[in-house]
This record gives sequence, C-alpha cells and structure tokens, in this order.
Amino acid sequence: LASKLPDVGTTIFTLMSALAAEHQAINLSQGFPDYPCDPDLLNALAEAARAGHNQYAPMAGLPALRDAIAAKLHAQHGLEFDPATEITVTAGATQALYTAIAAVLHPGDEAIVLDPSYDSYAPAIQAQGAKAVRIAMPAPDFRPDWALIARQITPRTRLILINNPNNPATSNLPAADLDALADLAEAHDLLVLADEVYEHLVFDGQPHRSVLAHSRLRDRSFAVYSFGKTFHATGWKVGYCVAPARLTNEFRKLHQFLVFAVNSPAQHALAAYLRLSQSWQSLPAFFQPRRDLLAAGLEAAGFRLIPSAATYFQLADYSAIRPDLEDVDFARWLTIEHKVASIPLSPFSEHGSRERIVRFCFAKQHATLEAALEKLKALG
Ligand code: PMP
Ligand code: GLN
Repeated sequence: LASKLPDVGTTIFTLMSALAAEHQAINLSQGFPDYPCDPDLLNALAEAARAGHNQYAPMAGLPALRDAIAAKLHAQHGLEFDPATEITVTAGATQALYTAIAAVLHPGDEAIVLDPSYDSYAPAIQAQGAKAVRIAMPAPDFRPDWALIARQITPRTRLILINNPNNPATSNLPAADLDALADLAEAHDLLVLADEVYEHLVFDGQPHRSVLAHSRLRDRSFAVYSFGKTFHATGWKVGYCVAPARLTNEFRKLHQFLVFAVNSPAQHALAAYLRLSQSWQSLPAFFQPRRDLLAAGLEAAGFRLIPSAATYFQLADYSAIRPDLEDVDFARWLTIEHKVASIPLSPFSEHGSRERIVRFCFAKQHATLEAALEKLKALG
C-alpha cells in the first residue's frame, strides 16, 4: 500500500499518555480534565437516554441543540446565526476541522498552517492531496509574521488555518492580528478555518476575539468549537462548526458521509444544559488559579516559563535543568524518572524545534497539580 501519510506516526498525545500510564506518572501531557463534569450535565445525559433519544439524530445536528448554539453565539457576540444553514454539530472539533479541510481543498491546492500547530491540521490537508505550507511563529512569542505569510501565498493557496487561542503556543491574538488576517484573506481571496476551541479559556481579563465577530472575516470563515473543552467533557466528542450558508452547504456534503449524524443522547443533554447554564463564563476564574499554582511550582523547580495567556496549558523551558536533552527525550525522561508527564513542543512544527520547551496541562484538580509539583521539587 502506498501510504497517503508516509511521515505520520502515532500522535504525541497517545504516546505520552501511554508512557504516563506505563510508568505510573502524573499525566499532565494530553489535555483533559481529571475532575468530574457538572452533575446537571450528567443528569441531562441520563434523562435523554432514558427518555428514548437513542436513535439517529438529524444529519446537521439536533435542531434544539443548533438553536441553543445560536443563542449562545448571540449571547457572546450579539450576532444572529441561522441554525438551519450556518451551524452544524460535529463529532468533536477534530471532525469539524477535517470536514472543513476536505470540503475546501482539491488535490494540488495549498493551505497555510502556522507552526507550532495542533497536530491534526497538516495530515488532514495532506490526505486531500493538498499541500500544507507551514510557516513558523518563533518562540517565545509565537506571533504570526504577516509579511512572511503573505510571501508564501501562491495562486494555489485556498485556505489559511488559524488557531486562536493557540494550542500549544498558549497565545491569544490581539485585534491587529485579526485585521491583518482579514487583509490577507481579502487580498488573496482565501477562506479561513479558525479553530477556536479554547475561546473561553483566556486569562488576565483579556477578551477572546472570534473571526465570527469580525465584519470582514465572518463571511469567509469556518469557525470550530468543542463542548469537550467548554464543559470539561472531552470524552463526549461533540463540537460544532459555524460557517456562512454557502460554506456550510459544502461542509455538510462531506459531514453526512463521514459520520452522518452525531451522538443523539449527548446532543439532547447539551441542548438542555445550554438552556439552563452559561457555565462557560466562569472558566477563566476556574482555570487561572490552576495556571498560577502550576506556574509558581514549575518556576521553583527551575523551569523558565513562557506566560500562558490562554488555553489550559503552560509552556516551560527546561534548558536550566537538562540542556543536554532534546524535548522528546526530556519529556520521556521526566515521565520515567520523575513521574510527571508533559508534551514536547517539537511534534507541532514541520521541522521539529531546537527549543527546549515542554507543555504541561493544568486542567487538573489542585491536589493533582500539587502532587506533580512535589515530584518536580527533586529537580531543583
Ligand atoms: N483543536 C485544538 C487546538 C485542540 O487542542 C483540540 C483538542 N483538544 C482539538 C482541536 C480537538 O477537539 P475535540 O476533542 O473536540 O475533537
Ligand atoms: N487537544 C488535546 C491536547 O492538546 C489532545 C487531544 C488528543 O489527544 N487528540 O492535549
């Protein structure tokens, strides 16, 4: 078999979570909470299943859930989105990203990806016979260089992917970057795929700026979200894609043959829960103390921090601890010898990275973070 993805192995998240389990390390690698979801959400799921919502949901998503998502978008942005033509419920953000990429790209097309980038983007592009044109955003600021990006655009460029807030960079784009993105997209007639799964996880009182709220980006963008992030339920794998009708129409042509429809009881539960609760508003206050606890402990253990403006991750430079080790080896060493698992940064860039940086997840109970920091004290 001629591989369509000859350079792709098993994702770093799977590798590091497996290594953490094998060595009984505290798992701060793959991003998922270790505390329970809101009991109201769990009750809503049980009620939905018991009420008999156990058969196929409508292809584009349960109408009640799409209505609830439209109401949420209105509460967030003060804008109207048509649930019938602009909102599609997906099997997590991962499926939404893949579907948008597959809907847009033809073989030979090019899509711009800014590195470090979430690991599903480039393979999804390559699987379409298209080319991921990957442009580095250098550490430690990870800012997009719009002039450099503009120089990489060719007549085959169709799409630019943007991840804001950014995993793994932990950045939150200022308004000027969204304006620059809009200038570029307009000048070259590009579509935008905006991965905004961490929209609610922004700190220090900063706002998140969505492409959906940008007058010149909204009409050319797919925006992708994940209830896994917003409701601490990564295992549910339910998300959604918001895009103008002409883009949603193409998106759904693929969606119906990738999954047809998404988990029905979970959609009923999410629709009911969204009507009751605006719990996402408390996410910054929920996560910021965890970020600060982890950051202080990592610094005391000898790491140099790259400030986390957003997401539930903290980047840390370990060059004062083990400058001899590359990041993948450092993450393995820390897991095996010190029983704390992290994610190295190099798998998120096309040519790896020479930085000495790893990523820790702080979507954890305080006790878990404290136990990890206790183990890391031995480094100091
Ligand atoms: N995009 C980014 C940036 C992510 O970090 C993740 C994983 N949490 C996803 C997409 C995938 O989200 P989901 O679990 O809903 O598929
Ligand atoms: N998004 C999560 C992270 O960045 C992991 C998702 C996955 O395992 N694919 O850690």
